Amino acid sequence: QGEQARMKAMEKACTLDGRAVEINANLSSLEDAGQALALGAEGVGLVRSEFLFMDSEQPPSEQSQFETYCQIAQALGDKPVIIRTLDIGGDKPLTYLQQGEEENPFLGCRGLRLCLQNVDVFRLQLNALLRARAKCSNLQVMFPMVATMEELNQAKYLLNSCYEALQHSGIPAVMPKIGIMIEVPAAVANARQLAEEVSFFSIGTNDLTQYVMAADRGNDRVSYLVSAAQPAVLRMIEQTAQAAHEAGISVGICGEMAGDPKLTEVLLGMGVNELSMSPIRIAAVKQAVRATESKSARMQAQEVLGASTLKQVMALL
Ligand code: PEP
Ligand code: MG
Repeated sequence: QGEQARMKAMEKACTLDGRAVEINANLSSLEDAGQALALGAEGVGLVRSEFLFMDSEQPPSEQSQFETYCQIAQALGDKPVIIRTLDIGGDKPLTYLQQGEEENPFLGCRGLRLCLQNVDVFRLQLNALLRARAKCSNLQVMFPMVATMEELNQAKYLLNSCYEALQHSGIPAVMPKIGIMIEVPAAVANARQLAEEVSFFSIGTNDLTQYVMAADRGNDRVSYLVSAAQPAVLRMIEQTAQAAHEAGISVGICGEMAGDPKLTEVLLGMGVNELSMSPIRIAAVKQAVRATESKSARMQAQEVLGASTLKQVMALL
């Protein structure tokens, strides 16, 4: 029976009415790629590229990044692989990206903000990604911590200028498909405008929850607020999914909630197209997808979105 369950996890997941839902893995290393495939990932929805930058006194070279991105993308064959650009800062400082002391690091210079203030380091990564995309057509790129249209425009402008410079030097480079993480409440409010400029959204519900609830995701005293099933967070997800669909782009979730099978039905009911999670969660979430019927999922989502409290939401799930 264990073997049967394992085989089932390797098949694509469709709802009872035949709607395909992409079930992807989150990776934090090259080694994770093998496990992701073995556990049934249909692709990689989030590569946390920080791992390449953490254990050293200086940023990894463009060449070593290029090689690692190619290795990860090639490990997945022709399955899609979304590499998130450096999301450092907050709780993960780096010595060579001197940030100075910040009183509120989670509200400070982290993620894309930090990259846009350290363009030299960011360019190395963008060059590596453009070159890797020339070799691996399954590679896509995602920017973290976007709040405003200006930030997205700046990031796209930089990517484009790196592309042109590579082309000019005769180095093979291809523009990847570009998406953004939606994890800052401002990005939810700006979702309609942002959706016009990218190919996909991926909702980072870990950070989105902490910012919507104004509650540190690592602080026990406010942990009762830090749930992605809070009605306020669910409404933000719904709003983001609507904006994505109106613009005709896909919307996924790559925060922890994507791996919780209790939440699968309601997320599908809100129109989420893709779920990316820790590989060990894949089998259970695929099972939940297969037990879901789109129309009743939509009804459940409507009911849940009308709930007033976390307790009511939990009772409905
Ligand atoms: C998130 O914020 O939900 C997310 C997936 O990113 P990280 O946990 O790496 O901040
Ligand atoms: Mg995040």
